[in-house]
Amino acid sequence: MSNDPASMLQDYLVFGEYDGVNPSINDSSTYTFRSPEKMALLFEREVEGCFLYSRHTCPTIEYLDGALAIIEGTESAHSTSSGMSAIACSILQICKSGDEVISSRTIYGGTYALFKNFLSKFGITTHFVPITNIDAIRSKITDKTKILYCESISNPLLEVADIPKLRKLCDEYNLKLIVDNTFSPLIITPYKLGADIVIYSLTKFINGASDCVAGAICADKEFIQSLKNVNNGATMLLGPTLDSLRAQSILKNMRTLHVRIQKHSYNAQYIAEKLQELELNVHYPGLPTHPQHSLMKSLMNDGYGFGGMLTLDAINEEIANNLIVKMQEELVGYFAVSLGFYKTLFSPPGHSTSSEIPEEEQRQIGLTPGLIRFSIGLDNDIERTWQRMIKCFREVGLIK
Ligand code: PLP
Repeated sequence: MSNDPASMLQDYLVFGEYDGVNPSINDSSTYTFRSPEKMALLFEREVEGCFLYSRHTCPTIEYLDGALAIIEGTESAHSTSSGMSAIACSILQICKSGDEVISSRTIYGGTYALFKNFLSKFGITTHFVPITNIDAIRSKITDKTKILYCESISNPLLEVADIPKLRKLCDEYNLKLIVDNTFSPLIITPYKLGADIVIYSLTKFINGASDCVAGAICADKEFIQSLKNVNNGATMLLGPTLDSLRAQSILKNMRTLHVRIQKHSYNAQYIAEKLQELELNVHYPGLPTHPQHSLMKSLMNDGYGFGGMLTLDAINEEIANNLIVKMQEELVGYFAVSLGFYKTLFSPPGHSTSSEIPEEEQRQIGLTPGLIRFSIGLDNDIERTWQRMIKCFREVGLIK
C-alpha cells in the first residue's frame, strides 16, 4: 500500500509561517513586483513561486492543487469554485463551435443540462450514449468529435465505466477522455487507468463537510497551464476562482479522506447486503449482482471499498416519498441532495439531481420513479441505523 494515493498524501508536507503544521492562508488578491520585467514575464508564462493576481492562482490554491495532483497521480491540478465550473472550463478549453462531445447518458443532471442545453448554444453538440456499450460509442464518433466524457461511477445509477477500454477507443480516434471521479476518490484513480483529465466536485466526498461548493481539474501540466493562460485560458477568463479560506479548509479535510472513504464504504456495503437479504431492489457496486461488480474489482485500489453511494428502488413514487420523510423523522439521515457528508443523505433523483433529464429518457436509462439515492454516512453503529431503516420500511409498507 506504500504507493497508494492516501499514503502519498500523508507525505505531502506543506508548512505555514513560523513552521505551522498547516500552510498559511493567502489573503491577497494581488502581488507586488520589484521590476517591470518580472511582471511582463509573468504575463507571458507561469513562473514557479511567483504570483500575479489570485484569479490566475494563489499560494493556498496551489497547496490544495498539489494534494489533488498527488491523489490522482497527475503532474498538475487546478481547483475551482464548483464541480460544474471544472467541467465547463475543461470542455470549453478543448472544444470550439462545431466540435462534438460523446457523453455517457447516465451522468449528473447538471452536467447533462450543461451539455444538452447550454454548450449547444455555442455550437458544441453532445451525443449521449450507454457508456458500457463500446459499439454505441463508436457509432457516434465523427471527425468533429473531440471528447469522450463519463463518470467513473455514474450519478445516480452507479454504472461503472471501463476506463482502460475507453482509453483504447480514444487512442484510435485521438479523443480526450474526461472522467468525473466525484463518487470514488481514492477508490478509483482514473488518470492511472487512462483518463486525460479527471474532474471532481470537491463539494462531495473530498471535502466531506457539506459546508462549501468547490471543484477540481486534474491533468498534465500542459493542460492545467493552458486553463490559466491569460490570453485564452478558460479558468483565467471565465473566473471560477476558489477562495483561499475555502481552499485551506478543503485541504485540511482531505487529510482524513482515506478514513472517511473506508467508513462510507464499510457502512454502504453493510446496508446494501442487508437490503439484498430482504430481497429489496438495491444497486451497489460492492454486490456481486451489480452488472459491473467484476469490472469495478479490476479497476479499484485496495483498501477503500466500493464507495458510499447506493440506490434503492422503493417500487413507486408514493412509497419513495413517504419513506424519505419517515427516514428523516427516524434520524436515519437527511432528506437532502449532495453526498459525502458524515450523515446519510437521501433524495429521489428523478425529482432532484436528475430532474434535468426528461422523464422519457429517465425511463430509458433505468431511472425509475421509486428510485432513492443514498449517500451512506459515517455512522459509528451502522446496525443501529439499519434497525431504524427497517422500522421505516415497515411503516411505509415496503416490507411486512
Ligand atoms: N459531478 C457530479 C458527479 C456531481 O454529483 C455533481 C453535483 O452533484 C457535480 C459534478 C457538480 O458539482 P458542484 O455541485 O460542486 O458544482
